[in-house]
Formats: sequence, C-alpha cells, structure tokens
Amino acid sequence: MTQDIPAAPQGAAAPVALVTAGASGVGRAIAKAYYDAGWAVHVCDVDERALTDFLEAYPGSGARRADVSDPAAAECVVKEVLASYGRLDALVNNAGIAGPTGPVEDLDADSFRQCLDVNLVGAFNFIKHAARAMKEAGSGSIINIASNAALFGFPYRTPYAASKWALIGLTKTLAMELGPYGVRVNAICPGSVEGPRIEGVIVREAASRGVSPDAVRRTYEGQSSMQTFVRAEDVANMCTFLSSKGGERISGQSIAVDGHTESLSFPVK
Ligand code: NAD
Repeated sequence: MTQDIPAAPQGAAAPVALVTAGASGVGRAIAKAYYDAGWAVHVCDVDERALTDFLEAYPGSGARRADVSDPAAAECVVKEVLASYGRLDALVNNAGIAGPTGPVEDLDADSFRQCLDVNLVGAFNFIKHAARAMKEAGSGSIINIASNAALFGFPYRTPYAASKWALIGLTKTLAMELGPYGVRVNAICPGSVEGPRIEGVIVREAASRGVSPDAVRRTYEGQSSMQTFVRAEDVANMCTFLSSKGGERISGQSIAVDGHTESLSFPVK
C-alpha cells in the first residue's frame, strides 16, 4: 500500500505515534489507544487489506505497507513520518511472528533466522532511525513488545523465546545509551492475548505435542496466577501510559502484562 500521510489531523501540537504491524491484532489496539488519546497515529504492516481497513476505521491516520525486517522499508517509514509530522514521540515496535513450533532437532536455520529478522532486527531497523530524531528532540518513548516468553524458558518455541529475550537486551542497552538524551526505552511482556493468533499457536502446539487444543488452552491459562489470557487493550493501555507524563521517569524496564505468569512449562502429556 502506498498511502500518503495526511497533515497531522489533531494539529501540529499533537504528539505522534508510529506502531509497527499496527493494522490488526495487538498493534491495532495499540494504535487505537493512541488515536483515542488524541495522538496522530501512523502504522505500517505487510497486510494491505488490513491497512485499508485501518484507515477507514481511523480517518486522518497514516499507513504504509512495510515489512519491518527490510531495513530500507523501515528507514522510509520513519523518514516519511518525520517529514509529514515534523516529530516522532512514540515508536512501538510491535511486529512479531510466532516462528516455528517443535523440538529443537526439527527446527531449521532459515525459519529460526526469519523469526529473529522480524522480531529482533525489525525493532532495530526502526529504532536506528527514530533514535536520531528523538535525541535531537531531547525526548521520546520507544516501546518494544516482547512477551512473557522473554522472562521464562519456553520449550518447543526456541526461536521465539530467543528473539524476545534478545529484545530485552536491546531494550536495556538502548535505555542506557539513549537515556542521557531524554529518550526512554521499555519493553512490555504480554501473556497470551485473546484472539486469532493465540488460537493458531494453540493448534500448532497441540499438533506438535500430540495433545488436544483444549488441553493446550487450559495449560496456557493455568500458567498465570490469574488463570487468564490478557486482552490486547491491556497491552495498549500500558503503551499509552509509558508514553504519557505518568511514564516519563520509567526506562529500561520489562513490564509484564500477563496476570502474573508463574511458568511456561507444559505438564500435559
Ligand atoms: P498477529 O500475528 O496477529 O499479527 C499482527 C500484525 O502483524 C498483522 O497485521 C500482520 O500482517 C503484521 N505483520 C506480520 N509480520 C510483519 C512484518 N514482517 N512486518 C510488518 N508487519 C507484519 O500478532 P499479534 O498477536 O497482534 O502480536 C503482536 C505482538 O505481540 C508480537 O510481537 C507478538 O510476539 C506479541 N505477543 C503476542 C501475544 C499473543 O498471544 N498474541 C503474546 C505475547 C506477545
């Protein structure tokens, strides 16, 4: 999709949020939360139909087709946001893929690498260009959407867990590097989010383990103290809080939004 970004609809003073993979799923809920809070919002995604739908739902927003793992596409998106709005206040690196599910001996290097390319290098591709503008402005909020898989070992999901642990390393390191310039970098670690993606993960894990999808769902729910999945809105609310005045002294943190995950071990046989 090539969609021209309109002039900032809320006026030049409105802060600007860029959300990767923002056309559907958790990213869309994040984009909506910023939009509802009066921010100018721009999303990128690989799904053109979802981008069109997003623009219809949130008029005045910007949208661009871009694969986050493509460094040139990421640079183009950040540059056009800066050219159109003159500022970038929040960057939410939300894009992430589940990667392959299975015992390590069955995984192949290409799918392992693809998971790292999207989940880790994709965030780097955007931060690299956003950081320059935020340093010059002396402020900014970068949020990396990790996972509770960044806090525990996660058997059968090796590439995903490795990519999300690496995202925490990126977050901690860049919080130190950018903190002196007033730029904050945090990670949010959601538990299983209600919605179609987790249903796909459940079906694949059930097939991989030879158990029923219901058994996997019950196990996932039982992994948190609150015995529940989370809502995309829970993650979105944490994003807008971190980017608000309330979050202006919070940096370098990995904040779980997960009903308190106790373990990602899988006792079902
Ligand atoms: P999703 O699979 O529903 O995908 C959301 C969007 O990402 C889609 O619109 C898709 O087109 C886009 N996308 C996929 N690959 C892309 C790429 N290379 N470049 C740009 N866009 C791309 O994902 P989700 O469930 O909304 O998850 C969003 C984030 O939250 C991910 O980082 C994920 O790891 C994390 N997360 C999700 C859950 C969950 O249960 N859904 C739990 C913990 C963490």
